[in-house]
Amino acid sequence: MIKYLKKRFEEPIKVDKELEKKRQKLRENIKKKFAGSFAIRMVDSGSCNACEAECNALSNPYYNLEELGIHFVASPRHADAMLLSGVMTVNMYHHSVDCYQQIPSPKWVIAVGDCVKNLGVFEKTYAIKGNDIKVDHYIKGCPPSPRDIIDGLLEFVNKK
Ligand code: SF4
Repeated sequence: MIKYLKKRFEEPIKVDKELEKKRQKLRENIKKKFAGSFAIRMVDSGSCNACEAECNALSNPYYNLEELGIHFVASPRHADAMLLSGVMTVNMYHHSVDCYQQIPSPKWVIAVGDCVKNLGVFEKTYAIKGNDIKVDHYIKGCPPSPRDIIDGLLEFVNKK
């Protein structure tokens, strides 16, 4: 075990060149189009939590979105965009609309995961209201990987 750990720590960290290229592009575009800072308020409107787990990974030292100027913020009043995940449930509808209304304009809604758009693996039930908040950009997948989310954010920023 000690030998294995020693070997692991001595190995140089492999850089994923393709991912690094995308990260650099994202950093440049955030700098150009959002003055170097893009703040996101994440709202889970009724997900299975897998999309959140993937989004959380974006803050780890590997994907490190903070370094590119993308921040997850606690207050919608500090946000530029809402990142919406999950089916829109009756219980989360008012909170989600309230959150959207509190984001200062100009503002955008980016939806993560298939179930925001078309219920995905869920079926329509009395607990599901359906989303009528205007979505500006969809990131598909169930769940999308952190890499897919970076691709989706890059697409969104390129459109701006
Ligand atoms: S898109 Fe899939 S992984 Fe994401 S919240 Fe919906 S069911 Fe879960």
